Amino acid sequence: MAGPEEFDAVLVGGGIMSATLATMLGELEPGWRIAVVERLDEAGLESSSAWNNAGTGHAGLCEFNYTPRGPDGTVDVSRAVEIGEQFAASLLFWARLTTAGVLGPPGDFVRPVPHLGFGRGAEGVAHLRARHEALGGHPLFADTEFSDDPAVLRDWVPLMFADRPPGEPVALTRSTRGTDVDFGVLTRRLLDVVRGRGGDVRLQQEVTSLHRRNDIWHVELRDRRTGAPRRMRAPFVFVGTGGGTLPLLQRAGVPEVRRYGAFPISGRFLRTARPDLVAAHRAKVYGHAEPGAPTISVPHLDHRTVDGREYLLFGPFAAFSPRFLRTGRRTDLLRSVRPGNLPVLAASARDNRSLMAYLVRQLAQTPAARTAALRTFLPTVRPEDWELVPAGQRVQVLKTSGGRGAMVGFGTEIVTSAGGSLAALLGASPGASTAAATMVDVLAASFPARMSDWAARLHEIAPTAGAGDRLDPADLTARTDEARRILGLVPDGVPGGDPA
Ligand SMILES: Cc1cc2nc3c(=O)[nH]c(=O)nc-3n(C[C@H](O)[C@H](O)[C@H](O)COP(=O)(O)OP(=O)(O)OC[C@H]3O[C@@H](n4cnc5c(N)ncnc54)[C@H](O)[C@@H]3O)c2cc1C
Repeated sequence: MAGPEEFDAVLVGGGIMSATLATMLGELEPGWRIAVVERLDEAGLESSSAWNNAGTGHAGLCEFNYTPRGPDGTVDVSRAVEIGEQFAASLLFWARLTTAGVLGPPGDFVRPVPHLGFGRGAEGVAHLRARHEALGGHPLFADTEFSDDPAVLRDWVPLMFADRPPGEPVALTRSTRGTDVDFGVLTRRLLDVVRGRGGDVRLQQEVTSLHRRNDIWHVELRDRRTGAPRRMRAPFVFVGTGGGTLPLLQRAGVPEVRRYGAFPISGRFLRTARPDLVAAHRAKVYGHAEPGAPTISVPHLDHRTVDGREYLLFGPFAAFSPRFLRTGRRTDLLRSVRPGNLPVLAASARDNRSLMAYLVRQLAQTPAARTAALRTFLPTVRPEDWELVPAGQRVQVLKTSGGRGAMVGFGTEIVTSAGGSLAALLGASPGASTAAATMVDVLAASFPARMSDWAARLHEIAPTAGAGDRLDPADLTARTDEARRILGLVPDGVPGGDPA
């Protein structure tokens, strides 16, 4: 076997996270030798692929789960504001690369689609109204309108409200600052930027193991075309292998995850491309989860554009597959069970009974039940117009928290080991939308001593992304409006205006 190749940073996995980090590192340290290694024929084909996620540019504009309502009726909006700021960092990051002429036409990966929150029943409407009032003071949310007037609702989303039987209280909020993002295309564009700056992007190379000797990470790979083994060495490794992260960290013997377990939940969506339906619903509408159901079950009806074709998507519906990647192995779940994580697996099964019951209900769901769920959004749905399509795998990470088995997959967790020389990302939510901010957090966790040298550059690359880099909300909104204009999300000269 040839000797190992030497790099300054090896990023394992060619998804949106590695692509974002590689782009940032290439800009911060132009002299570094950076490698991104991906096991599939192309990058961005797993969770970051357009059909494996919902493509929502999560910015806190419409998601109930980011604004929980307390028993006294008040709504905590801090998470929605945080996600709004994080998504703003992503927009600023993409806009800067677009201005530099290296990211290609932005309309290929991000498009304006209004984001609406949908409150049903007296409780749902009260929650939506309180959410709208509580967010009203923040400039990022200033354009959001609330209405429970049937005529306005019909005007905003005719497909949902033109033929809705009267009776149930309903209301909407609507922001025209929403987006639909093709994270798969974006991943490949970012990796083109990395290549253009001299980085190495290696496809069909599977990392089989990692170990550290003399302060250097040794990365063992297998060429999937020829089966030939290869080796790389680098002082810094990022594991951005999505659902494959925990198994790789387990194989590397990373002590920080010794007690972690994992449980995969796959998603499915109902999809239609019927032209009149697609034309009548240019929005992403997020409802609220049924009582006791997890946040990943929040139903939404989305307008999507993928490969130049328009669709409507409704879901998600949970499903089960023991694989940790769409292209993973049926033995993934079994192989992740170790003596060290057995207690957490047992505690998670014990302490997440309502989630387990929800999953069982979802697995037992009939086509008629899925149509009934869609009917709460589209009263006139015809089942024959819709097909059930698989989405991505979410690998929920299990750990013990406060003596209880907890699923952390509903958030994103950065794990670092060996003094930050290895960083990895576990969990999937809010995911791709916050990639720029999350990767700045990875840099801060892994390179604390360099952060002061990098601060000015990082502020240019992705302002607002760093915890100590908060912009004043009005300033942030002004810069976000400019980024949105560069990305073609508003007509020229109409900051924050209605793109329709
Ligand atoms: C159903 C669903 C809906 C979602 N909806 C949204 C949404 O609307 N908005 C949003 O922002 N986020 C959403 N997400 C989350 C989002 O998709 C993920 O957070 C994001 O794509 C994760 O990117 P990643 O780069 O970490 O992983 P991935 O895109 O999965 O990339 C990991 C890469 O690593 C490669 N790999 C794995 N193992 C190895 C190995 N050993 N060697 C080399 N390469 C390897 C894989 O082939 C893959 O290409 C959703 C997720 C799901 C499951």
